[in-house]
Amino acid sequence: MAGKCGTIKLYSERWCFIVNFLKNINWTNSFCKRAGLVLAAVLLFFVALSTRTAKTKADTNDSSSAKPADSSSQQEVKFDTVYVKLDNDEMTNTGLIALDDKDHHITSGAADLVSIYSYLFNAKGEMIMTTGSTNICGKKEMFEQLNLMISDFSAQTGLKTIMVRNAAYKVDDKVYKSQFDIPDEKSEQSAAAAQDGKCADGCYEHLSGLAVDFQLYEADKGAYPEYTGEGQYAWINENCYKYGFVLRYPADKTDITGVEAKKNHYRYVSKEYAQVMHDNNLVLEELYGFLQKYTFEKPLSVQTPSGSRYIFYYVKKDKDNTFTTVPMPQGRDGEKTGTVSADAQGGLYVCCDISQFTSQQAPQQESQTSQTQVQKTE
Ligand SMILES: [Zn+2]
Repeated sequence: MAGKCGTIKLYSERWCFIVNFLKNINWTNSFCKRAGLVLAAVLLFFVALSTRTAKTKADTNDSSSAKPADSSSQQEVKFDTVYVKLDNDEMTNTGLIALDDKDHHITSGAADLVSIYSYLFNAKGEMIMTTGSTNICGKKEMFEQLNLMISDFSAQTGLKTIMVRNAAYKVDDKVYKSQFDIPDEKSEQSAAAAQDGKCADGCYEHLSGLAVDFQLYEADKGAYPEYTGEGQYAWINENCYKYGFVLRYPADKTDITGVEAKKNHYRYVSKEYAQVMHDNNLVLEELYGFLQKYTFEKPLSVQTPSGSRYIFYYVKKDKDNTFTTVPMPQGRDGEKTGTVSADAQGGLYVCCDISQFTSQQAPQQESQTSQTQVQKTE
């Protein structure tokens, strides 16, 4: 069955407003013509001004920072649409942007988590960070990106002092929030922490295998200073989004996260989502509402520093059925291009890599695209 051809127009909201406004004017009326000309001149002035302001702003920022999809011109992206059927029950607070707080918990199975040990070395085999224990474990994807980030940090600064103090903690195929949460009859503190289900230092997310806490280890002094993200370590806060990490509990967002500021707790959300959070100064709690404004027809478009382009949009769960059908651009290989995360309130968040449709390469022949299989909507 041939795929339905989808078209996504990537405008900035500014352009959408202007284009829609101009479409709705009755141009046969002569007053409207005159008024239209004046209005057009005024609009052109403001657009030129705002474009110039945006450009100046971008120029003063880190030159490697990403900009939203070509906001100065309309760009049409053409692809076949594939429909993905998702089980509503399985799609609750799950995926890379799932929330772990006092009301929601995400718990990874022991089989999904790997030890940190093999990720402590850079490509040359040099140890670029240390850990409090090889029982510290996490999601493979998270550790791979952590390894790249600390390798680059170490290459930039010459420092090999980052120590991963906490992530998830795996012993005998059981996963704990930290080593302090392992029930131990000898320790009243551990027993109390285990009983109320909180990690000993009061932070969430570690059972997910998507979060790490840093401290410092200065081998030459035998010292373990606190990690504050200051001085040379500011590089990590400035660059972590490029590796998919966010500082989860920043000091200026404590009223939103409900957790006291933590300078050493990083959460992995993927490069795509971290880019959106970085560009718009959002914490995870704010990301949901921000993304809910976007639809498959009018998605948020984002380009990363490496040149990849992504679209983001929101789909409400189909509460009348046990499944929800989510549209996605279909890749040239016939595969879906996106991943889906879910909140706990019935919202689905889709992120699709559309780089293959926007690259400079010549489009593939029509016959190849029309052969692709599309899952039928039910
Ligand atoms: Zn933590």
